[in-house]
Order: sequence, then C-alpha cells, then structure tokens
Amino acid sequence: MNKTHIVIHHSATDTGDIESFRRYHISKGWRDVGYHYVINKEGSLQKGRVENDTAAACKEAKMNYKGIHICLTGNFDNYEPNNNQFATLIKIVNDIMKRHNIPTNNIKKHTDYAHYKSCPGLKFPWTRFINIMKGEIKMEDNDLTSAINKLVEKGVIDSPNYWINNGTWKKEYVELLIKKFATYIN
Ligand SMILES: [Zn+2]
Repeated sequence: MNKTHIVIHHSATDTGDIESFRRYHISKGWRDVGYHYVINKEGSLQKGRVENDTAAACKEAKMNYKGIHICLTGNFDNYEPNNNQFATLIKIVNDIMKRHNIPTNNIKKHTDYAHYKSCPGLKFPWTRFINIMKGEIKMEDNDLTSAINKLVEKGVIDSPNYWINNGTWKKEYVELLIKKFATYIN
C-alpha cells in the first residue's frame, strides 16, 4: 500500500535493538518485528520490515497500512533520545519524506492515534523535531558546541573550551557574556 504517513515510536524500554524486538514480536505470534526501522541506543539505523510492507505497530486509523513506523530504543517518558539517535531520526525521516512524497503534517506520534499511550514518550522533543523537519530551525541551532564555535568566529567568545567542557560556569563569566551579547546586538 502507498505510504502516506510516518509514525514515531519509542520502545518504552531502556535497552534493545532490532534483534531483541524481532524476537519479542515473533514470540507474540507476529511474522516479523512490527516496525520498519529501529534506531538503537548507539544511533544506528536498523531495518525491519520493508517500507511498503504493512506494519504491526499502530492498529488505529489504518496506520499499519498507511504509515512507515520508526521506533527509537529508550523510554522517553523518563528521558530524551540521545543526540546520535535524534540525528539518525532526522536523516531517515527526511529521506522517507522525499522518497514517498510525505508532507511534514503527516509525521505523527503513535499517541496521536493511540491516545491511551504516551508513545514516543512524554519527554520526546516533538516540537523541536517537527520544526527541524519543517526547516524552521537547523539541528545545529540546538547544538551547544557549534553555537559556541559560531561565537568564536564572530569574536564574542575567546575561550571556547571553557564553555564547551565546563557544565558549571561562573556567574561572573556568564554576566560578562550577557553584557558582550548586549553590546554586539546594539
Ligand atoms: Zn508506539
């Protein structure tokens, strides 16, 4: 069937990959892992069912037929996906959108159809993800290291390692930085 949607899931487990999910799904009597893709904790893209195949991932709204289903390993009710996973997700979703001509509005959370679930998790950064997919923000905009490097280029920051490596910045340095920004935007 023609795929018109992309549906995002979390595994709701702290560990696992395509092989363990496949074993689990087959143990439930399914013919294969239910998803089209899994993104494991390392951020590797793992292939499940072929894209045009029916999924076993969301029984509502015919989404098993209409959707390409991607599952990220993790329980995002408790924490966010890591940067490697997030970067891989953006890449594969971009790629699928182009190949299947799927608009951003048809990128959905599992919970959009299955309201009784929180999938892909309460802490999944959905707005940020969608804004990246819409091209409204670049992923790098949220990446502290590249932001710092940009400020180094512009001469706002002259000791990047202090800002990159140190999670506990001194109040006086933060204040200095804020004052510098104020001067720069004048
Ligand atoms: Zn789900």
